[in-house]
Amino acid sequence: MTSLAIILLGPPGAGKGTQAKRLGREFDFVHISTGDILRAEVQKGTALGKQAKEIMEAGELVPDSLVAEIVGGRLRSGNGKRGFLLDGFPRNLVQAEYLEGAAGDLPVFAIHIQVEEEQLFKRLTGRRHCPNCGRIYNVYFSPPEREGICNACGSALMQRKDDQPEVIRERLRVYREQTEPLVGFYASRDAYFEVDGNEGVEAVFEELSARIAQIDQSLERASR
Ligand code: AMP
Repeated sequence: MTSLAIILLGPPGAGKGTQAKRLGREFDFVHISTGDILRAEVQKGTALGKQAKEIMEAGELVPDSLVAEIVGGRLRSGNGKRGFLLDGFPRNLVQAEYLEGAAGDLPVFAIHIQVEEEQLFKRLTGRRHCPNCGRIYNVYFSPPEREGICNACGSALMQRKDDQPEVIRERLRVYREQTEPLVGFYASRDAYFEVDGNEGVEAVFEELSARIAQIDQSLERASR
């Protein structure tokens, strides 16, 4: 099977993190989530975390150079036999151009998870996560068995600071302005696919799996 990089494109709340975790496991991709990496840096209080904290809490984008360094490092060190699944990167055209260079010969494809705005709001305001094992819940759609407690490990669930309504509005604005133009960038390279992300986690997972199979087939045909 050819090695490749797949970008999950989509607004905050589209389910990129949830899907990427599962796709990474089932298809053996190295999952790179810039949001998760940055949150871990903030948690540890590193120099990078200190630089990123306020920007993230305001729903703005962390400087391209910082994020590019993170992704470049992961691409170089990932054994990536099967390839990489990028979740939350690139977020603008500068980052997309950077990725073209950093990926080298690795083919890059984008799969856009499309979700309606009203649905996004519910997903984001209802989102909770377990700081211990990383499980994600939603108080409306997939609540834990006991309110506020992780089913898997019993830890107290948390809400991201940037999942407050006013910050969500800003993140969506930044997405429309800076990230959505990437649709044109990848479409013009014939490296663009879409899935309907309004359905449940399982249905979206099936659709994403089908797109990945389609990409694999096209790469195999091209290499013959
Ligand atoms: P996410 O978990 O992908 O929603 O990311 C959370 C926050 O981390 C974003 O709102 C940004 O502040 C920051 N962030 C994550 N990925 C990037 C990126 N590729 N470029 C700039 N900022 C990012």
